Amino acid sequence: MSDWWNSKGLDELNRTEWEALCDRCAKCCLHKLEDEDDGEVVYTKVRCRYLNEKTCRCSDYSRRTSLVPSCLDLKVSDWHGLDWLPSTCAYRLRARGERLPSWHPLESGSAHTVHEAGVSIRGRAISEEYVHPDGLDEHIVHWVE
Ligand code: SF4
Ligand code: SF4
Repeated sequence: MSDWWNSKGLDELNRTEWEALCDRCAKCCLHKLEDEDDGEVVYTKVRCRYLNEKTCRCSDYSRRTSLVPSCLDLKVSDWHGLDWLPSTCAYRLRARGERLPSWHPLESGSAHTVHEAGVSIRGRAISEEYVHPDGLDEHIVHWVE
């Protein structure tokens, strides 16, 4: 099926399609802070230590959920509540029935367009290895919505 990524529902995707839907922006591998009062989630530029920032891919994808307890396998998670994910996230967009943007690799046919469009975290993050957990709020960014 052509254009399956804009026509199939998330619950209709097989594992290969599911993985292909990820745009590799790596924004979900950034640390987030949640406001205790209103529950608002804000992103920091501090990334998980297992992320290869150059490729924006996890360096140990098969073991990610055991290495990092907060790291989720979205396919087996409750993806009906994806509001914590960035607004550009393909899973969030498709959960709302929206089409993928032109820079998405499935639309463009190139893995580079997510970086060229300035959507990925490449060149903008720092590893959690260099940030004290209590200092995350000093690294809040507004380029993730
Ligand atoms: S935010 Fe969504 S599209 Fe981007 S890397 Fe994470 S799961 Fe993939
Ligand atoms: S373990 Fe991998 S997929 Fe999970 S947050 Fe870290 S880099 Fe991202």
